[in-house]
Amino acid sequence: MTETALTVHQTARPHGFPTAAHFAFVESALPRPTPGTALVENLYWSVDPYHREMMDGDFALDAPLEGRTIGRVVDSRDPALPEGEIVFHRQGWRTHSVVAPDEVRRLPAFEGVPLSAYLGILGGTGLTAYVGLTRIAELREGQDLFVSAAAGAVGTAAGRLARLMGAGRLVGSAGTAAKAAYLTEHVGYDEVFDYRAGPTADLLAKAAPDGIDLYLDNVGGEHLEAAISALRPHGRIVRIGTIAQYNATGAPYALRNLPDVVEKSLRMEGFLVSEYAHLQEELYEFVVPHLRSGRVRLDETVVDGFDRIVDAFLGMLRGENRGKMIVRAASGDRG
Ligand code: NAP
Repeated sequence: MTETALTVHQTARPHGFPTAAHFAFVESALPRPTPGTALVENLYWSVDPYHREMMDGDFALDAPLEGRTIGRVVDSRDPALPEGEIVFHRQGWRTHSVVAPDEVRRLPAFEGVPLSAYLGILGGTGLTAYVGLTRIAELREGQDLFVSAAAGAVGTAAGRLARLMGAGRLVGSAGTAAKAAYLTEHVGYDEVFDYRAGPTADLLAKAAPDGIDLYLDNVGGEHLEAAISALRPHGRIVRIGTIAQYNATGAPYALRNLPDVVEKSLRMEGFLVSEYAHLQEELYEFVVPHLRSGRVRLDETVVDGFDRIVDAFLGMLRGENRGKMIVRAASGDRG
């Protein structure tokens, strides 16, 4: 085993889009587990938009960054964390983490399901889409749904899950024509538009000429305004995220059609997936059989090497991912 560990720190607050200069890779001696803890060698890392939000003030500067990660216990001083065990934890953005048993979740071993799935459709990403569809939108068979950032992690999971749940017409938006084609050819969307091709309201009106029942909002701003116009009476908006705003430097987009929310009796509700951990088993029960049968496939963009985690994060913010953006340890470390 290596004698050194690498950790990523945030070193400055960004104004607008962050760059590699806002981060530093810090080398240290390999941490040693103390009694009641174990050393985990990390294998897969998730890079997520919420990190961008936290960079504005929540993350301490010059301190190890957190992050959702899967790793293997390599040195244990607690019987609850046997060596060789694969665990999920949040002390990521580092090659090695010292964790206590209550800081990790043991991952089930579903035959034929790769570990990266537990950061994607079986992890927080899939759970976000699942909660949004089942608990907030309360999707019923035949209902027409619009999803923004449809080619991303939550967006691809939402498309695949909504198809399994019997949704009606599935409309999405994405940042390139190639992503739009992937979504209709492989994920199950009926119509996807490239939102850079014109005003979002016009593009959505064309893609969903008869309107929509539900909107899963990953983006906010112009997308949300367009969806309010396209929603039928008593429609629902599920607020998941506001990625159009995370790197913006100007004033937030001001919605011009808020009166429609009243006129059409629309309902808008947001949620945090962290409050729905109790649905994790339900998600496994719903998705795993379809993963194993091949009806659901993984949508992921995998970047190799921990030294590329900052590039992967910045790339995700720029839309370089299709599906879940995942960083994988160099093959020699994966065992
Ligand atoms: P993701 O969609 O895999 O990655 C972000 C994507 O956003 C990029 O691929 C890019 O794709 C798109 N994007 C970037 N800037 C944009 C802009 N200005 N307008 C429209 N699209 C833009 O990330 P994710 O993890 O699935 O997260 C998606 C959303 O869900 C985020 O808003 C995130 O904060 C939210 N989220 C919320 C929860 C919760 O608990 N509520 C949990 C997880 C995620 P394009 O090429 O299409 O632009």
